[in-house]
Amino acid sequence: MIKMDFSQLLHEVTPHTLMFQTDNSNAGVIIFPNFIVAIDPTMYPPDARGFRDILEKNYKKPVKFLLITHYHGDHVFGAAPFKDVEIISHESQLDLIDEKLKGEWSKTAFEEWKKEEPDRADAIDQIEICKPTKTFKSEFIITDEENGYRLEIYHAGGHTKDSSFAYFQKEKVIFAGDLMFAKSFPWAGDPTCNPDAWIQAFEKILTLDFEHVIPGHGPLVGREEIVKHLDFFKDLRKIIKKSIEKGISADKIKIPNFYSPVQPGMDTRSIEHWLKFYSLK
Ligand SMILES: [Zn+2]
Repeated sequence: MIKMDFSQLLHEVTPHTLMFQTDNSNAGVIIFPNFIVAIDPTMYPPDARGFRDILEKNYKKPVKFLLITHYHGDHVFGAAPFKDVEIISHESQLDLIDEKLKGEWSKTAFEEWKKEEPDRADAIDQIEICKPTKTFKSEFIITDEENGYRLEIYHAGGHTKDSSFAYFQKEKVIFAGDLMFAKSFPWAGDPTCNPDAWIQAFEKILTLDFEHVIPGHGPLVGREEIVKHLDFFKDLRKIIKKSIEKGISADKIKIPNFYSPVQPGMDTRSIEHWLKFYSLK
């Protein structure tokens, strides 16, 4: 097996923030004077181990907090190497994880997964579902007042019921989690996805003073990408509501021009969810 050079995945964004980019999802980092905050652990424990090791080696401080932005596997499964730190999540994540453990994340389901992806079997074996050790309702703040550091974490919902984002005002950085699929069509078909809450999250982010957005997936982007996604979401919401009024079926709905090519199912399953969401309203 080729030994991975994790330093190649780690990119400095501002003097005290970084982005760690894997093929499966991104993670974020804030270097406080005396400790490190990690945002999402990535999907597979070996990547997460490499991520943590390189941070602690390069910055000579311990990781003290891990924010898990939401309950999707590509943001939760890597947490095992962080299980000795404070794991922070929105309170609704506990129930969402319990629900998954009963089905898609059961032992049998993981055995099936290993059979489907034998090359990944070792990494899959290392997955431990780590529940948050600290939950919050609307916001959670990590501060070092003496040195003027403050990280604000806000619950938003939207992509999923438990979706949160973080804001490091000192260096104008937003850690968006999967509220932002940068430069691609977003996954908006989770059963707990709330398009209205997602739109509100973009609107709230746009009231903040920021320049950089570290997304859950895709490259580092800026304010204009949030504006672009917000416009697309609003257009799509209008179209979905009109389609419901007129009784147009999912397969006949024309999606406004956005990023293409779209990963199979991302758009159609998102549309089906939005139709259901607004039909039930
Ligand atoms: Zn997600």
